[in-house]
Amino acid sequence: MKVGIVEKPGVLKIAEREEPKVVGPQDVLIQVKRVGICGSDVHIRHGKNPFATYPRVWGHEFVGIVADAGPAVARIKKGDHVVVEPIVSCGRCYACRQGRPNICETLAVMGVHIDGGCQEYIVVPQEKAHRLPAKTPWDEAVLVEPFTIGAQACHRGNVQKGDYVLVMGAGTIGLTAVVNAKLAGAKVIASDLVDEKLHYAAQCGADWTINPQSQDLFAQVRQISGGMGSNVTIDAVCNQKSFEDAVEITSAAGRVVELSFNEQPSAIAPVGIIKKELAICGSRLQTHRFPIVIDHLEHGRLPLAGFVTKVFPLAEMVEAFDYVDKNNAGVRKVVISL
Ligand code: MN
Repeated sequence: MKVGIVEKPGVLKIAEREEPKVVGPQDVLIQVKRVGICGSDVHIRHGKNPFATYPRVWGHEFVGIVADAGPAVARIKKGDHVVVEPIVSCGRCYACRQGRPNICETLAVMGVHIDGGCQEYIVVPQEKAHRLPAKTPWDEAVLVEPFTIGAQACHRGNVQKGDYVLVMGAGTIGLTAVVNAKLAGAKVIASDLVDEKLHYAAQCGADWTINPQSQDLFAQVRQISGGMGSNVTIDAVCNQKSFEDAVEITSAAGRVVELSFNEQPSAIAPVGIIKKELAICGSRLQTHRFPIVIDHLEHGRLPLAGFVTKVFPLAEMVEAFDYVDKNNAGVRKVVISL
């Protein structure tokens, strides 16, 4: 079978591998139909993801059909459409015991630490496969994993009905945060330096959009929120300044959600946190968000039409990655079809 592999930083190619088989009684064999290209995959390709090891079959956003199942598999059956939850955790460490396997001590993410979904067939434990409505087109189903990231950000920020939520950065992840915050009943402000991305954010339900290049972000957010600032700020811009801005603009009793893997320190005075009793938290991957997002999908609550910018066949995988590199502003999600 064919696999898409990053052999070493900078070397992305298609290779031949033997087709995997169901071994354990709980295993399912999945025929992969679509794999989404994430910013983190682009970083893995270019050697800029600190967690990746090589050679690596990339892909953590993937969906397919169950092609075979071990004798103890009960949740799903052959022919089911599934999305794979791409994280493997130990179940024993402190975080796992707290119900947070996404930050397990020995966390392994498919496509990053272990091989991922860009292969014609993959075997995963049944509990990692979530059934999808069969009627959902593959080009929409493949968006479930990215939407779990936005769902997690809202979960971590404890977004409540009526909250003013500022989503900084209207890239793919920012957009999924906008959608999830709207579904939670929040009033959503999106900011980005690129007008085209703000246009998408408005399509995804953002009530207000702000381009800090031409507008004063702080003044606008204060005006919209009646002076208090945003109750929840989700930082999907992820630079030193955006973290500082998020702490500054968030209201008393508010929450700041960081999505950044930035290693550069930001300058944040503790008094700004204490005075407003801010909760500042990180949001990584997701915990238990797949069933929630699939429910939204099943009931047509996700604005998915047009979210996939372009679909490439596996044979044109390298071109697809090049396309993402060259069209950053206009790309929401580029997908590989197998
Ligand atoms: Mn992703």
